[in-house]
Amino acid sequence: MRITRISAYQVDLPLHEGRYAWSGGKSVAVFDSTIVRVETDDGFAGHGEVCPLGPFYLPAYARGVRAGLTELAPHLIGLDPRQLAVLNEEMDRALKGHAYVKSGIDIACWDILGQVSGQPAYVLLGGRYGEDFVLYRAISQGTPEEMAQSVANYRAEGYRRFQLKVGADAETDIERIRAVAEVLESGDRLVADANTGWLPHEAARVVRGVEDVDVYIEQPCLSYESCLSIRRRTTHPFVLDETIDSIETLLTAHRDDAMDVVNIKISKFGGLTKARQARDLCVSLGIAMTIEDSWGGDVTTAAISHLAHSTPPEFLFTATDFNSYVTVSTAEGAPQRNHGRMAASTAAGLGIAPRWDTLGEPALVIE
Ligand code: MG
Repeated sequence: MRITRISAYQVDLPLHEGRYAWSGGKSVAVFDSTIVRVETDDGFAGHGEVCPLGPFYLPAYARGVRAGLTELAPHLIGLDPRQLAVLNEEMDRALKGHAYVKSGIDIACWDILGQVSGQPAYVLLGGRYGEDFVLYRAISQGTPEEMAQSVANYRAEGYRRFQLKVGADAETDIERIRAVAEVLESGDRLVADANTGWLPHEAARVVRGVEDVDVYIEQPCLSYESCLSIRRRTTHPFVLDETIDSIETLLTAHRDDAMDVVNIKISKFGGLTKARQARDLCVSLGIAMTIEDSWGGDVTTAAISHLAHSTPPEFLFTATDFNSYVTVSTAEGAPQRNHGRMAASTAAGLGIAPRWDTLGEPALVIE
């Protein structure tokens, strides 16, 4: 089996809430997503998706996905999409870095491998744990009252885990965390995610200011060293996200006891192959995980669902259902949230089929 064509489709994904805001005044109203299609000489086609959280979150941007594919895809024509280690080695040989560019191709090839095997991707990723898995809801930054109301609303829809977008001035962030904590009940989980937005002195004030609140602190500062400094000053459970983007950084953070939970975003690691490697390592090391991506729609949500559903539940802190945040559906068969939980499709591969009326004409085709 050989790859004969790689194409990419650009899709705009507006948000039900109108906009999504996080630390440093960053916000996005319409996400620019790229759906990657890999086709083979014997008629199989797999799909992946890459959707950066705007150009100012991780070192990734939407047009960079498509520019990178133009550079990378010609090297992959003729390769066997089922041989994922060989494929990933060739991607790393042909293009140094730019993990997010490779992610959509890798996901699409897992989709093909599943279809060829007649198995859902979660079987190939290790197996299915239970009927479904737990989701969190990201709460866009707003006033403390707005965020508490948003949590109450999503709690009424069944979510029990909430990730607050903080990372502004310390006083307001302390108010945000306290206002939201008041609407939660026993068993709920609260994460305050600063998305690198605090300087250490501000982070130190926030963690002290909410010392009596049951809250996880996520990625308070920009650098790993600053996060580690805050980690050592607080008793709150601690999550790292933006600074953990490889096996090397994961191992360093484990050695330093720098986190209790790590956020595995598929495109940050470069696809399901490498995210799965990180996931399995976390299970071996005893580190809980959030499994998600930077953003996305139906295809990203399907990929997340297979990696999350094949993760032992005691290690899966949360996962994300991005397709419920956006107004546009790009694929049939994508998993849907149900009372704050989700299940991966039992169909072969990712279990999705693109909606061609939404995708339109490809932005690029390499063959
Ligand atoms: Mg985060």
